[in-house]
Amino acid sequence: MQSSDLRERVVATAEAASTLLIDGQWRGTGAGASFASINPATGESMGNVSEGDPTDVDAAVRAARIAFEDRRWIGLPYPMRAKILFDIASRIEAEAEQLAINETRENGMPIAMARMTIANGAQAFRYFGGWIGKIHGQTGEIGVGDAFFGYTLKEPVGVAALIVPWNGPFMLACHKLAPALAAGCSVVVKPAEDTSLNTVNLVRIAMDAGVPAGVVNMVTGFGPVVGQALADHPDVDKISFTGSTATGRRLIAASVGNLKRLSLELGGKSPVIVLDDADIETAAPAILGGIMSNSGQACHSGSRLYAQRGIYDRLIRAVSDLAQKLVVGDGMDERTQMGPVISQRQFDTVMSYIDSGVADGAEIAIGGKRRGTTGYFIEPTILSHAPADATVVREEIFGPVLSAMPFDDLDWAIAEANRSRYGLAGAVYTTSLSKAHTVARAIRAGTIWINTHRPTEFWTPFGGYKESGWGREGGAEGIGAFLETKSVIARL
Ligand code: NAD
Repeated sequence: MQSSDLRERVVATAEAASTLLIDGQWRGTGAGASFASINPATGESMGNVSEGDPTDVDAAVRAARIAFEDRRWIGLPYPMRAKILFDIASRIEAEAEQLAINETRENGMPIAMARMTIANGAQAFRYFGGWIGKIHGQTGEIGVGDAFFGYTLKEPVGVAALIVPWNGPFMLACHKLAPALAAGCSVVVKPAEDTSLNTVNLVRIAMDAGVPAGVVNMVTGFGPVVGQALADHPDVDKISFTGSTATGRRLIAASVGNLKRLSLELGGKSPVIVLDDADIETAAPAILGGIMSNSGQACHSGSRLYAQRGIYDRLIRAVSDLAQKLVVGDGMDERTQMGPVISQRQFDTVMSYIDSGVADGAEIAIGGKRRGTTGYFIEPTILSHAPADATVVREEIFGPVLSAMPFDDLDWAIAEANRSRYGLAGAVYTTSLSKAHTVARAIRAGTIWINTHRPTEFWTPFGGYKESGWGREGGAEGIGAFLETKSVIARL
């Protein structure tokens, strides 16, 4: 974030906010500084957010450390901890409609999608709550004789910083907080500056459900200040981060001081391969949803389309026809299918990518322009015949822009799909069972969809190969990311 942006947002607000939670107490910053959370559809302020600083981070980490050392959470009987996680789920469900409205107003996503993400967030607490009491080590023989035996213990990693992005402020925070609590950690939550308020709501709900003071703390504020202070802090044991690859690199550098454990869910440029034999009726809507959902602001967006020449023109027409019909507007309108991008900064970035695609020789099949005069709306955009080396094909845009290319030879398409520094996800569309699984194996990415895009489950680990990140969220691996393993060897 440019410091000029930062100043603008701070000046835009007058009232102080109390969005810091430290040792069970909600408060503002010492200097009372705050900034506004802006509705990207209207430009209106949604409310104020405390602009935390490194002193607040230090206080939050200290509170988390004391709670951890006191065993204030892991010391509770496990049925009680599980009950609290289930109660968080129920409380989210009880407030679901208001939380969905907040999510739409803060992030811009269509209200129907917001409802699904809130329900998914609640489900994360049920799924990970179900793990509590089922996290076991192993036991076994020791080779020096039967007077010995050994076992392993799974222990929480300690104080975890949970750094959340703006493209799923509630759900993605749930995907971190639920496994961290299930594993027994104390945490400091750092929401994204563009969308802090609904992450604040999640933490409020967790506290209301009975999480002990100091176990969950929160510091709102700007990434380069608050996030960086968490990354630099010698008493943070673990960072679970979702965001850009650039910030991920900074976290790796900052973490060397105390060798923090890092889970990094970073950027993507997911390839979509469509074979001549694909069912176009299935493929076209899934491809469109795979890129335009949340206005292209999803790390797993299928943003590079490689379609075999025999189907290419028909497919581009079919996807463009559907894109043409997408209802773009304020997410609060029930008819809306695609909202704005998150901010002026994101709007400018996406528009300049579209210009660069055209300058590099791609043709605009549909879209390419701003929609309306208020808010940050961009038309669903398809860039056809994009040169394989164009910037729009190589870099993550994080906007509603699909770059498409025809291909003749499947081996070429697979090689191109893999010619990326990212490896988060990919998709293949074909009616050939054999080709589907051949491509699924050949693409180097953490998740592959066949004849669909986007569904995931809590037990399916999600994360990236290559520069898309380290580690996985979800399932046993997701819990494991918040655990250490201790070996105990005993002589009888
Ligand atoms: P970002 O890296 O700028 O911000 C993400 C979070 O990191 C925010 O909370 C921000 O405040 C914080 N942050 C920023 N600078 C920091 C620093 N120096 N130290 C610590 N924290 C800092 O990313 P963004 O642009 O807001 O989010 C979009 C990116 O996130 C995209 O690249 C997208 O692909 C990625 N993303 C990945 C996944 C995934 O699961 N792999 C999911 C969603 C988004």
